[in-house]
Amino acid sequence: MAYSPSGRSGLRLPRVSLGLWHNFGDANDRVTQRDILRTAFDHGVTHFDLANNYGPPYGAAEENFGQHLARDWRPFRDELVISSKAGYDMWPGPYGDGGSRKYLVASLDQSLRRMGLDYVDIFYSHRRDPDTPLEETMGALDAIVRAGKALYVGISSYNAADTARAAAILRELGTPLTIHQPRYSMLDRWIEQPGAHDSDDERSLQEVLDAEGVGSIVFSPLEQGLLTNRYLDGVPEDSRAGHDGRYFRSEHLTPERLAKVRALGPIAEGRGQTIAQLAISWVLRGGRVTSAIVGASSSKQLLGTVAAASAPDLSADEIAAVEAALSA
Ligand code: NDP
Repeated sequence: MAYSPSGRSGLRLPRVSLGLWHNFGDANDRVTQRDILRTAFDHGVTHFDLANNYGPPYGAAEENFGQHLARDWRPFRDELVISSKAGYDMWPGPYGDGGSRKYLVASLDQSLRRMGLDYVDIFYSHRRDPDTPLEETMGALDAIVRAGKALYVGISSYNAADTARAAAILRELGTPLTIHQPRYSMLDRWIEQPGAHDSDDERSLQEVLDAEGVGSIVFSPLEQGLLTNRYLDGVPEDSRAGHDGRYFRSEHLTPERLAKVRALGPIAEGRGQTIAQLAISWVLRGGRVTSAIVGASSSKQLLGTVAAASAPDLSADEIAAVEAALSA
């Protein structure tokens, strides 16, 4: 496994990290979960990404992860980077959603209890809440670090302008913004585009992150499984699109998108990679992104994507070939 520093911080993250958004809920097999976690760590994947409401039900991924931690991981706490987040819907009433200090502090306390931890390594504001002043949300992150409940702080899915403002507020408070977690894949390139998500900054999110020295860890780099060979011959019953209609449905598998995935096949083959590995190598190209957070429903899948962390960087010709495949 190769490790990269998150921006200008001393925190080094594996180029491929594991996310527990799916496959770690109460309905998922515990033996498979354990196998995925152990396989990850044994291959240098030291970073596990969670959030308060991963499950289902909400909180279940943290609870299940906590049980695996208690059984397998206690002696290795100092070799692990564990993150959690709050920002989306978590509990009923006015205090279980958004970006208030009230919600973020209470939610992290609950997350720590569910996982049986004293602190998380990274705590994120999961989304920009337009109804809470940014100063309050960033002030809560700073207070959380000072209380010893998180070592580093991050933000997720904030546009370029809000990211620049958040970094400035945190710098003033004395707690640097260490990491941004945006969605990024060959099929969702908003972080490269100035003005994306109503940003009024003339720079793209990537340009803001470079200027501020903030790292990036990108989510859904496989587009939830679409950027693999998983759906090339239909929708398998055990796939995310086949059995879990919450966020990824078969309607997302349009003929145009599948044609792009097929066009990537020969490029991947030319590099001795699978399409999934090419998709990971592509987000990591040039070293601008710190880490790619992948999901996996089996340890075999995870091994497939982890291999991309040690693959050679894409050449200029390969990058051009990918652009051509995506615009076909
Ligand atoms: P991916 O794009 O990596 O999709 C993962 C899915 O792709 C797997 O569940 C599996 O699908 C399929 N897959 C994985 N490896 C392979 C392989 N080698 N061959 C074929 N298929 C494969 O990421 P996710 O969408 O799962 O997101 C990853 C993480 O990012 C989350 O767990 C979470 O930690 C974070 N995230 C953060 C968000 C935020 O708002 N900050 C939002 C969403 C995610 P199948 O299940 O069908 O087998």
